[in-house]
Amino acid sequence: MTQLNERIAVVTGSSRGIGRGIAQELAKRGATVVINYQRSAEAAEAVAQQITADGGAALTVQADVSLEEDANRLIKTTIDTYGKIDILVNNAGVTRDNVIMMMGADDFDVVIQTNLRSTWLCSKAAVRAMMRKRYGRVINITSVSGVMGNAGQTNYSASKAGIIGLTKALAREVAPRNVTVNAVAPGFVLTDLTSGLPEEMTSQLNDVIPLARWGTIEDVANATAFLASDEAAYITGHVLSVDGGLAM
Ligand code: NAP
Repeated sequence: MTQLNERIAVVTGSSRGIGRGIAQELAKRGATVVINYQRSAEAAEAVAQQITADGGAALTVQADVSLEEDANRLIKTTIDTYGKIDILVNNAGVTRDNVIMMMGADDFDVVIQTNLRSTWLCSKAAVRAMMRKRYGRVINITSVSGVMGNAGQTNYSASKAGIIGLTKALAREVAPRNVTVNAVAPGFVLTDLTSGLPEEMTSQLNDVIPLARWGTIEDVANATAFLASDEAAYITGHVLSVDGGLAM
């Protein structure tokens, strides 16, 4: 197992779902983890307490990462508390699914702001400090929907495809300072985000996924922890699909 001892990590949206799993996995491997949330204060505290109880270190920070002031405060609090930031996982995300004819412009805006703008804002705040230290790992959680497109998700697919472009552009910018920027593209994973998908869709999914199952939170967390590790030092600008073969 790759070790992350003495690394300081921020995971946006880690009160629940995939973000919580990533935070727990990074902590298990020795990183100190900043647990960010928007509304779920109790859930975020529970994640931090569990990490501490297991012998790790964690801090919770409320911030709406789609807002510039909040995103900057999240990264500043991390650096003020621990002196540096080594790993940033841009995970916070939402959906507002509908066919384009039924989708309001506000549903487009909120998804772009929460998923894409937040990734840009947090990355901008973090890479400044990373470049100074000549070390950093930025990992952006995109989606199979951003790779393949998904009907009913013009807003979400656009935000996730945007994250892939952002990942590659930023990877080129910061590579000379030993900062890597990669993306993880999960397929379907059961969380609050996907629990509302229609039954006829979820039951048919296993037929089109080559590995014939949904992904687990651990599948995504393990891939993210690898990209955060020293073993991944020569990988940048990469989009790692964790989707059971769905997008190939
Ligand atoms: P989830 O269970 O709904 O959790 C979303 C997390 O994001 C929560 O911790 C939430 O915080 C946080 N969040 C939402 N808006 C935020 C904001 N403005 N500022 C800060 N935090 C915010 O979702 P999930 O399924 O774990 O998804 C996590 C990521 O994986 C997302 O980027 C999603 O697009 C991506 N993904 C998921 C799947 C899947 O099948 N589940 C597949 C591909 C990609 P609160 O608890 O405070 O609301």
